[in-house]
Amino acid sequence: MSQRPETKAIRLQTEKTSQKEHSTPLFLTSSFTYESAEDMADAFADDTLEVNIYSRFSNPTVDEFINKIAALEGAEDGVATGTGMAAIFGTFMTFLSKGDHIISASAVFGSTHTILTKYLPKWGIESSYFDMNKPESIEGLVKPNTKMLYVETPSNPGLDIIDIEVVSKICKQHNILFVVDNCFATPAVQQPIQYGADLVLHSATKFIDGQGRVLGGVVVGKKELIKQLYLFIRNTGPSMSPFNAWVLTKSLETLYVRMDRHADTALKLATSLQLHPQINSVKYPFLETHPQYAIAKKQMSNGGGIVTFELKGGVESGRHFLNALQMLSMTNNLGDSRSIASHPASTTHSKLTEEERNAVGITPGLIRISVGLEHPEDILNDILQALDKS
Ligand SMILES: *Cc1c(COP(=O)(O)O)cnc(C)c1O
Repeated sequence: MSQRPETKAIRLQTEKTSQKEHSTPLFLTSSFTYESAEDMADAFADDTLEVNIYSRFSNPTVDEFINKIAALEGAEDGVATGTGMAAIFGTFMTFLSKGDHIISASAVFGSTHTILTKYLPKWGIESSYFDMNKPESIEGLVKPNTKMLYVETPSNPGLDIIDIEVVSKICKQHNILFVVDNCFATPAVQQPIQYGADLVLHSATKFIDGQGRVLGGVVVGKKELIKQLYLFIRNTGPSMSPFNAWVLTKSLETLYVRMDRHADTALKLATSLQLHPQINSVKYPFLETHPQYAIAKKQMSNGGGIVTFELKGGVESGRHFLNALQMLSMTNNLGDSRSIASHPASTTHSKLTEEERNAVGITPGLIRISVGLEHPEDILNDILQALDKS
């Protein structure tokens, strides 16, 4: 009987011990033992990776997390890493070589942008950027040495959305590996492989953990691609810790109900704030006023848990707003059960020039809310009282 993703997120279990425990066991061990010298020799010779040798290579708790994410994303296989950045860097290092070219959306996570601009050139890998709002410009950036195309949709913090299916067609035509950072949506909301992405990756630190406890990353895709990435991670070392994998595989059991609630509250909040006199505009993928609303409706099952709005008063009112909040947390993380407010212009993106900020949609008064799981009215009321004071 084939199970739906909501069930697999809970029931897909890799290993049980002789204790017949009901919940997922935690295999907190660095290495594994053998019955004989011959078994040990076989384990090392085994290229199918079925036998656990050492937890940098594989671990049953980590495997459970990987198997679940792969199932939810509709992928053949996956690799887990210590952080989201390790997943992104490992993907670049595995599939790009000296002399290659990567095309990336300009609106990507800050550290991803730093890898592209500061580190990849050291190894002779060049990059070009396109505006998420102008996918038609991608074609003109393709060169004979273009090997990879990289996007985040929805993007952070601009919430720009790109049609995954349209981009995947361009990539197939030019034999380019198409990589999607699916962190903001999670597989509960969007499955990029269904629309033609080759590799899908996550910072599991965000909605996948969902409670702000551990860091983690994961990449999923076709077996032959994952095998190459696996060997890079196994040999260079940014593997996921079994403890973090245990936290994350338990988190997946509640992913679908959490994402439904995050999105319900986020839509309520976005709708309520739209007409507020101190707010210029509200952005949320499932608001009809979102520039890519039709694309969001096509490829996402709900609008996700992030809402942004633009305060009329600019940078100063952004700071006043944060200082006036009584419940929402001031922190740079997102995807937590606790609602979080951040002001990108004065924090995460303060090192960019105003011009660079504007290019990725970060206006001086932009506030990003990671909508948590508290009562929707309590979240709204805290934001309203802070708006009154700012
Ligand atoms: C946080 C984040 C990352 C980086 O993940 P870490 O787990 O912090 O290393 C990458 N992409 C997006 C979209 C993120 O929000």
